[in-house]
Amino acid sequence: MGGFWGRSVRVVAGAAVLALALAVCQRSAAEKPKAAAAPAPAPHAPAAPAVAAPVVRQEPDTGAVWRKWGLKPLLPAPAPPADKPLKLPGKGPAKVFDSVPTKDRVVFVTIDDGQEKDPKFVEMMNDLKVPVTMFLTKDDVQDDYGYFKPLQALGNRVQDHTVTHPVLPTLGLEGQKREICGDRDALTEQYGTAPTLLRPPFGRWNSLTQEAARECGISGIVMWRASMQIHDFQYDDPDKELHPGDILLAHFRGPEQLKGETMTEMFAHLLEQIEKRGFAVGRLEDYISVR
Ligand SMILES: [Zn+2]
Repeated sequence: MGGFWGRSVRVVAGAAVLALALAVCQRSAAEKPKAAAAPAPAPHAPAAPAVAAPVVRQEPDTGAVWRKWGLKPLLPAPAPPADKPLKLPGKGPAKVFDSVPTKDRVVFVTIDDGQEKDPKFVEMMNDLKVPVTMFLTKDDVQDDYGYFKPLQALGNRVQDHTVTHPVLPTLGLEGQKREICGDRDALTEQYGTAPTLLRPPFGRWNSLTQEAARECGISGIVMWRASMQIHDFQYDDPDKELHPGDILLAHFRGPEQLKGETMTEMFAHLLEQIEKRGFAVGRLEDYISVR
């Protein structure tokens, strides 16, 4: 249900192989030897022969921390583009999009609602540092706003997902504004930064949503190209592939909604699907500007 608009703007990744090669190079560069792992030479000791200091190709802890969660490391994300590829107009109807125009082999992970607050997930994100964007519904998070603060402290942005999670097109302009502005105000007060993006509940929106969002200070309405279930995504693409710039949807869910699986198990499956397709995870807000 995410993608009957925006298909035409899908970027064809002709440079995928090159991008992958670049990503691999960047990973090598990023894996600098850990200084603490090598014994420090005495200040005036004669220079050791080169063979005595083998280059440690991989940061020892990187693989271990992913293995702790039963995972292989994702490719590291490329540097955020200096010129943001998705430029949102600063006035007029909020722009609706489900992907970002980029040739970088990155996808973007968004997590919605906020009902499940599993401490293990905070530990997982602390370990893995995968960037996510959190679209939080006030009614789901107001019993424990604090849960999301360590996730925010990792650099993850909190964005708007309405107060009560209604089907927005069933409401008029004022009703939609109450939902969107109300959530934005509460999240701004709690988290200290104002949402600039809206995820409409159920992916349902109309032109009044675009108008209401703008009046609430929101410039972009974020849809998705694939939606995480329990073990795999439900894809818009009939070939079940990911594409550079795809926005992916997941939810803060627990065993009740995941047939007994936990949030971290679901999220591990999500990362596996991304890893086996050779994608990195970028930070959505790094690819968007408002003009
Ligand atoms: Zn939702």
